[in-house]
Amino acid sequence: MTIQPVRLFGDPILRARAAEVTEFDRELRQLVADLTDTMHDDGGVGMAAPQIGVGLRVFVYDTGDAAGHLVNPTYTVVGDEEQVGPEGCLSIPGLRYDTRRALRVRASGVDMHGNPVEFDAEKLLARCVQHETDHLDGVLFIDRLDPASRKEAMRTIRESDWFNAGVTVRESRGAGQAGPFGRGR
Ligand SMILES: [Zn+2]
Repeated sequence: MTIQPVRLFGDPILRARAAEVTEFDRELRQLVADLTDTMHDDGGVGMAAPQIGVGLRVFVYDTGDAAGHLVNPTYTVVGDEEQVGPEGCLSIPGLRYDTRRALRVRASGVDMHGNPVEFDAEKLLARCVQHETDHLDGVLFIDRLDPASRKEAMRTIRESDWFNAGVTVRESRGAGQAGPFGRGR
């Protein structure tokens, strides 16, 4: 197990655009393993490399129905149906807001060996693909909220102990304590 500490809101890496992966080497395989272990230990449905301090375009996911990883991911929205449901983020402890996302997407990218990957996703997996791909562009789910909720979210963050203490990294929580994307704490 190679569980890594999780970066929190306030760490600049979460606001930076992650770099394309160009080398499909042992380090990349280790990164995918670390991400997967940390996501599972922290009780998340998905985790992007910047969340463990690595500025590369990689994320992992495990919704229970589907699990895997994607390197240099992109997605296209399929259809025009949307979903609104609770979303949180392992990097923003304690926050959970209804977030509007596309209901279906087609995700594509490559795997850790550089082989092309493409899959269709809907519901939770589609939400996860959108959330994690956002991370690689320095976008957080609170940016996707309506203005009133976003304002409330920012206030909650500013009032939280960890943010006030300037804490930008925390240890993984241990399995099973959080729900999708790391709800509650
Ligand atoms: Zn997140």
